This record gives sequence, structure tokens and C-alpha cells, in this order.
Amino acid sequence: MFEVTCKECGKKYQSEKNRDGYCEVCRSRRIAETKHKYYETRKAKRDEIRKKVDRCENCGKKFKPKKSDQKLCEECQYLKESNYRMTASNQYRKDHTDVIQFKVPKGMRADLKKYAADHGMNMTALIMNSIELFQKFLALPDDQRDQVNELINKKDDKK
Ligand SMILES: [Zn+2]
Ligand SMILES: [Zn+2]
Repeated sequence: MFEVTCKECGKKYQSEKNRDGYCEVCRSRRIAETKHKYYETRKAKRDEIRKKVDRCENCGKKFKPKKSDQKLCEECQYLKESNYRMTASNQYRKDHTDVIQFKVPKGMRADLKKYAADHGMNMTALIMNSIELFQKFLALPDDQRDQVNELINKKDDKK
């Protein structure tokens, strides 16, 4: 331990480091002051934003900005963001998917949709699963394919 002098109040105090610093009392006061200053600045900034009224760059309506860099009123900001999200996801879909459309007899669409839902699928999943199953079926050796056909026909007969 060394005896050093407080740079603020000039009082002598004990320290592990052999150089002048701030005594316990002055140190905690300085910390409190810094914190206080920090909150004051933050509060002043908040108040400034709260008092500020801007005109929306899009619709010209007056609005109270919540952030200092806000340029659009709440509605226009929301529209802009949702528009952006929509465009982005539309673009993604365009880039990564193809659309297949086909026609079915009147009423079948609803039936198929219900059938798919009853089996926990949407229409796409139902159709993709069906295609996959059909491909697997066609890939079977002839005798196995005959067996499957037989089983299915027997089941149909029972109805
Ligand atoms: Zn001091
Ligand atoms: Zn606006």
C-alpha cells in the first residue's frame, strides 16, 4: 500500500498503485456524475425527438418521429416495409419456383383440397407425394408391380 494524494480533494489516501488518483469518496462521486450526465444527454435527445414534428416524405402529413432519422409517418413507414417484404418474397418465389396449373372436373378441386387437408398436407405436398409414389411404383420390377396391382384391385373389390 502507498500513500497518495487525491487529485480532486487533495486528501491523502491509501492505494495499491503508487500514483495519485481519486479517493474513494471522489471516485464514487465522479462515477455518479458521469452516469447522471449520460442520462441527461439521453433524456435531452429523447425530449428533442418528442418535440420534433416532421413532414412525411411520402404523403406530406405532419407526424411525430420516434427516431431521429425517421422520414416517413407511421403508416407510410409500415406500407414501405410491408411492400419491401412482399416484393422480396415475390422475387424469391419467382427466382426459385415454377408454377404448374392444371384443370380438373368441376368440384374436384374442393374434394382434393379436403382430402389433402384430411391427411395433413396442402395440395402441393399431396401432388408431390403422389408423383414420388408413382415414380417408385413404376421403378418396381414387373412381378412386384403386378403384386401391388393385385393388392389394390382386391381392396377395390371389397368396397
Ligand atoms: Zn478526494
Ligand atoms: Zn406518410
